[in-house]
Amino acid sequence: MPMSSEFHQRLSPILAEVAEAFGTPFHLYDEAGIRDTGRRLQAAFAGVPDFREYYAVKALPNPRILGLMADLGFGFDCSSIPEIELARRVGASGEDVLFTSNNTTREEMAACLAVGGILNLDDVTLVPKVPRMPDLVCFRYNPGPRRTGNAIIGNPVEAKYGVSHDQVVDAYRAARDRGATRFGLHTMICSNELEAGYFVETVRMLLEVVREVSDALGIRFAFVNMGGGLGIPYEPGQAGLDLERVGRDAARLLAGFAAERGYAPRLLMESGRFVTGPHGVLVTRCINHKHIYREYVGVDACMSALMRPGIYGAYHHVTVHGKEDAPADTVVDVVGALCENNDKFAVQRPLPRIDEGDLVVIHDTGAHGHAMGFTYNGRLRPQELLLREDGTVERIRRAETLADHFATLEFEPKKLATRDL
Ligand SMILES: *Cc1c(COP(=O)(O)O)cnc(C)c1O
Repeated sequence: MPMSSEFHQRLSPILAEVAEAFGTPFHLYDEAGIRDTGRRLQAAFAGVPDFREYYAVKALPNPRILGLMADLGFGFDCSSIPEIELARRVGASGEDVLFTSNNTTREEMAACLAVGGILNLDDVTLVPKVPRMPDLVCFRYNPGPRRTGNAIIGNPVEAKYGVSHDQVVDAYRAARDRGATRFGLHTMICSNELEAGYFVETVRMLLEVVREVSDALGIRFAFVNMGGGLGIPYEPGQAGLDLERVGRDAARLLAGFAAERGYAPRLLMESGRFVTGPHGVLVTRCINHKHIYREYVGVDACMSALMRPGIYGAYHHVTVHGKEDAPADTVVDVVGALCENNDKFAVQRPLPRIDEGDLVVIHDTGAHGHAMGFTYNGRLRPQELLLREDGTVERIRRAETLADHFATLEFEPKKLATRDL
């Protein structure tokens, strides 16, 4: 089910005015919906002692949104230095920050350690490269043929992430030999997964690896991190993830572990999409029509604002403001202006007749939407707005300008003479 009816009811009466005041296109995020989902997530895991969500910053890296996450008590999962800096700017410090990267540099590890963050190492070869081994260290685990992944993240055996099963004991031994005393275990093997049982299996798998490593090395685990990848229903009629079941079954597995071993590691999660995905829309205006072999609706946003349809063929629900109940009696491609034929928000989609000037609403853009945009072809990224709980609308990021686009160009090139001429 795309955009909730509550979000629709909050936005619909003010949408024309917001578009008039700020201009199009824009992503708009719904504070009330984000807070509701954050509380739902906490309630679902209320049976797990010390559960903590670390919001995946890359999903929606805007300080105003990250501030909402901090209010909810969430930490931040970062995977680059700019993301660590964003988390720091909203007040995160120490173990509020988790750093999960791959193909990692020493500078990145140092940046994580500088804020006291939890270092999540992607490989055993990184152990000697860690500038200063922290007390608490985590490894990302790749189960390889033991699990099947899904389309976005790929099959674990083909995925570049994590430590393989036969390296995992050696990885912790190497970290311990360099001075680590507390340990975490992480995995992230699916993306946009809607099946609750998949996540329960992941928690079971993590606890199994914890047993194996603990028995081999005589160490305890401070936490297991089940990663993100919690799915949202992008298509109408699709059932959502039964998060409450994941929470209940995870609590049962951890309690079983505690009964057997006398303690249980904390459970961490690093969801991005589930928390903010459904609570954003991309609002764009129809500016052209074209009738060739197909019918095209040209809008004033393009894939610089939302890459998912273009790169994954992902479905995003589309509605036309004021025509939500009109019959879908035309079949169109909704397109941007970028010179790539995959710059389409919808392909062969039945929609009501769209007139020039109509506001076209693209649903579920609250995660991996604006953040993923690029500026290929000189197509700039749009503004972001936040609909507050009190009904005010804030601009939380302006649109990019020509000056931004030119900011890195060296019209007076920096020169290096490589030999005497
Ligand atoms: C992208 C990512 C996430 C968040 O993924 P969602 O699909 O938004 O839940 C979490 N952890 C890692 C390591 C990631 O790369």
